[in-house]
Amino acid sequence: MPELPNLVQAEPIPEAAMAEVARILQTGDLFRYTSAQSPVALLEEEFAQKLGATYALAVASCSAALFLSLKALDLPRDAKVLIPAFTFAAVPSAVVHADCVPILCECGDDYRIDLVDFAAKLPDADAVIISHMRGHTSDMDAIMALCDAAGTPVIEDAAHSLGTTWSGKNIGTIGAIGCFSFQSYKLLNAGEGGIMITDDPDLIARAVIMSGAYEHNWKKHPVLQKPFKRWQNTLPLYNQRLNTMSAALIRPQLDLIDKRVSDGRRNHDHVAAQLRTHPHLEVPSPLAQERRAPDSIQFNLVGMSPAEISAFQSAANASGLSVQIFGASEDNARAYWNWQFLDRDWDLPKTKAMLMKACDVRLPARLSLEDCDVIARVILKAATEATQHAAA
Ligand SMILES: *Cc1c(COP(=O)(O)O)cnc(C)c1O
Repeated sequence: MPELPNLVQAEPIPEAAMAEVARILQTGDLFRYTSAQSPVALLEEEFAQKLGATYALAVASCSAALFLSLKALDLPRDAKVLIPAFTFAAVPSAVVHADCVPILCECGDDYRIDLVDFAAKLPDADAVIISHMRGHTSDMDAIMALCDAAGTPVIEDAAHSLGTTWSGKNIGTIGAIGCFSFQSYKLLNAGEGGIMITDDPDLIARAVIMSGAYEHNWKKHPVLQKPFKRWQNTLPLYNQRLNTMSAALIRPQLDLIDKRVSDGRRNHDHVAAQLRTHPHLEVPSPLAQERRAPDSIQFNLVGMSPAEISAFQSAANASGLSVQIFGASEDNARAYWNWQFLDRDWDLPKTKAMLMKACDVRLPARLSLEDCDVIARVILKAATEATQHAAA
């Protein structure tokens, strides 16, 4: 059988980015607010335009963007923030960092927010963060209708959803604020970095100042001056700015988004079609309004005992494919019971049942269909072996 492709490697850095980094290094001009023409400011302008948002602020990470978004909403201390129980530990961490308290909402077998639990918990929440986990979009029509009616602001955690659309609209432009990541395992690879987008001049002005635009550095942001004058000297400076190098690495990748999205979707759908032929493998379908931009595949092991699930994981690993089962791999940062920094324990049976059978395999856009075939074959073989053994 052909060899398994390298799934750990991140998206490649374009030549143009390397040349730009070398040029900047020659000048030593590395701080956004002293750069003659800051690549960070250019990235903000280009990213906002690409996504169809009015304002963008580039920061150190998506976690920083989530934190600043909560701060920009001016929530009181101990405000409650409703988040999905299926997300990355960075999300409840950003809530805690912002002096708020997370409320965890159940997620279903399709990895999306359970709308019944969401509607029940929304009245207690002062704000909502929707994590489109692994790019799976929760029902934004239903969520926005509920949140608009309640007057509760929505932050979209689109860290892993760049390029996904909902009824033709970019994910991250539906709530009040959208946050994205440039960490290496996301669609755009700067090692580290993040960006937030919004159409609200007051939210962006507050976030810009708190991100570290001290004194009058906000004048270097093409945002209305009035909100900045209002907030001058009234907000703390959390210094979460993006490094110029990261912006230089990202800008040439913006033109590659569309190709990475279509290649990623092609790879995902190719593997999904093969997995769906197996009686013990289930790949949840996208919602009707959603056009996905996956760089990984998630599937559920169905009708398998815990022993068979563990046999499946061992068989895949023995073939050299690292399959993570969110709830079964030790200390997984996406299993809510491992968030022991929270001030209470959560018991969420639906989410837990999903996490115990949901598998995660990286499927980067750069893979060929032949690479994808090798991966699909390993998964199918492992599922068959795991279920036959137990039957014998
Ligand atoms: C990666 C990720 C984050 C965190 O992004 P950083 O840039 O590493 O802070 C948050 N939420 C989701 C859903 C992610 O996938």
